[in-house]
Formats: sequence, C-alpha cells, structure tokens
Amino acid sequence: MNCTDFLSQLTDYFDGQISPELLAEVRTHLGECDHCKIVLNTTRQTIEVYRGNEIYEVSDELRERLHSAIMTKCIAARKRA
Ligand SMILES: [Zn+2]
Repeated sequence: MNCTDFLSQLTDYFDGQISPELLAEVRTHLGECDHCKIVLNTTRQTIEVYRGNEIYEVSDELRERLHSAIMTKCIAARKRA
C-alpha cells in the first residue's frame, strides 16, 4: 500500500467499511509513514469535533439569538464599508 492507496481507503476506514485484509495493510502503512499518520490524526480530530457538535446541539432559541447577533454584525459591517 502506498500513500495514494491509503488516502483512498480513509473514508471507509473511518466508516468501519474496510475489509480485515485492507485494515492490516492500512495499519502496516501507518507504521511506516508519518505523513499518513498525521493525516489520519487530523481527520480523526475533525470528525470528533463534528460529532461533538451533534451531541451538543444548540437549542432553537440559542440558534435564533446567534443568528440575529451574526446578522446584526453583518449589517453593521456592511454599513461601515
Ligand atoms: Zn503514506
């Protein structure tokens, strides 16, 4: 497995859709390649942040308040420009 093969398997790897044979190859490659290890860690962190946002889903009320606060700032910025 090379880096291109690894990257093409990355989504399946995170989805758990990867065959045991491929998983073994992915792990072997990760043991040899720092670059792909960094890619894997960064992607994993991104996914965890994303999943975290789902767990701590904001309420409708908070969403409304955030939305109007952002809109107010946008309108103020546009007026200044
Ligand atoms: Zn690699």
